[in-house]
Amino acid sequence: MRDTPKHQGLRNQLVQTLINKGIKDKKVLTAIAKIPRHLLLESAFEPHAYQDKAFPIAAGQTISQPYTVAFQTELLAVESGEKVLEIGTGSGYQAAILHSLGAKVYTVERIKELYLKAKQNLEKIGIRLKYAGYGDGYKGLPLYAPFDKIIVTAAAPYIPDALLEQLKPGGRLIIPVGHDAQEMKLLTKDNQGNITETSHGLFRFVPMLENKE
Ligand code: SAH
Repeated sequence: MRDTPKHQGLRNQLVQTLINKGIKDKKVLTAIAKIPRHLLLESAFEPHAYQDKAFPIAAGQTISQPYTVAFQTELLAVESGEKVLEIGTGSGYQAAILHSLGAKVYTVERIKELYLKAKQNLEKIGIRLKYAGYGDGYKGLPLYAPFDKIIVTAAAPYIPDALLEQLKPGGRLIIPVGHDAQEMKLLTKDNQGNITETSHGLFRFVPMLENKE
């Protein structure tokens, strides 16, 4: 599969859909317009890749809906050069969007098959992350901490302490918390290390699981 002017046209339409749904950040919209989402999906989904929908990937997991990716990325307020940790690599789409914003991206996935495939697909589209590994997101990535920003893309039953600890002063953590539906939470750490929490609506993610593999 290749990236063609037809795909670019569909991406531009997707950007318009996201603007209509309230996404404003120009840098985020530019990243959505740039990343070939169809190349991160199974070929059967290629005709639908630029609909604003989640799709199944391997191992019973999903690639997030573009609106959700854009919403979380907008809240994260990524600046070029920042260190960003993602929990739940999945297809690699969210990681690709962060990379395209100039972030140094570190991403962790608990299913081996997915992390290997995401790495391969990202390399195919010319994206080299700082780190893409296999591990348990509840532990964060202590070896590379601290991070300017942390984004969790699976439904967390609670906010893991390790993630707050691995956040720099001035940093932001965005995490969907809950069971059936999840409240999108934004946690900010000030220079004294105090945490402030705000809520940003309900979303649905696959669960963040403890690593048993
Ligand atoms: N960001 C992804 C979304 C994938 S869905 C994308 O853009 O496609 C969420 C992913 O989180 C799944 O692949 C799931 O296996 C992974 N996950 C669930 N619990 C996890 C954990 N404890 N640590 C790391 N990854 C986890």
